[in-house]
Amino acid sequence: MQYTRILLKLSGESLSGNGNQGISDSVLEEYAKQVLEVVDKGCEVAIVVGGGNIFRGMSGTQSGFDRLKGDQMGMLATVINSLALESAIVRQGGKAKVFTSIRMEPVGEFYNRDNVLEAMKNKAVCILSGGTGNPFFTTDTASALRAVEIGADVLLKGTRVDGVYTSDPEKDPKAKKYDTVSFEEAIAKRLKIMDSTAFTMCRDNNMPIVVFDMNKHGNLREIVDGKKIGTLVSN
Ligand code: UDP
Repeated sequence: MQYTRILLKLSGESLSGNGNQGISDSVLEEYAKQVLEVVDKGCEVAIVVGGGNIFRGMSGTQSGFDRLKGDQMGMLATVINSLALESAIVRQGGKAKVFTSIRMEPVGEFYNRDNVLEAMKNKAVCILSGGTGNPFFTTDTASALRAVEIGADVLLKGTRVDGVYTSDPEKDPKAKKYDTVSFEEAIAKRLKIMDSTAFTMCRDNNMPIVVFDMNKHGNLREIVDGKKIGTLVSN
């Protein structure tokens, strides 16, 4: 196994399957299976889930919401997704535990790094919900922060595309996929991988990122095993 402790970031939209809204039972079931495959191998897994399938603070402001309230709604949306994922993992026979960055027991335990490490040691998938707990941030930033905090070997960004491209592959037929790219090159070429706060957090703390297609079964397991899948971003 190349990675023994991972932070997996899943966007809210990916949980919605083909639509952009709501939660798809079949996607949840599929993700839960893939995650448990790597837990069974002995890999410690923490997950940060987005909330974009339910609410985004920024889009709220367009319809007149106060940004702070909108972001709080977005953070609560990530908790809803996290509970759904927890329940899917438990249905598959695994152990999972939701932590919240904002106090809301008994919905989840208030985030504490040491308790997360302890739970992961006991083979529980730790779902770190509520983003950073602060407005004006994203769950990408939360995943960068938590990956560094828990000492993950890598931040795995599961998306619907299979890596980072020179330009948008849906618009440019000449777009080429990177197998590896450095943080510096990604910044210089303005490649869209994560928002800049998340990205610099990873760069400054030497946290490699792998961007990969989470919808292809087996990808997660193979990455953990050391197979070169997706795009590796590192220093
Ligand atoms: N959010 C926030 N602080 C955080 C993380 C998230 O305020 O630390 C809010 C923000 O409004 C964001 C929403 O929660 O738009 C959902 O998160 P995100 O957009 O990152 O979800 P994703 O795009 O990954 O589904």
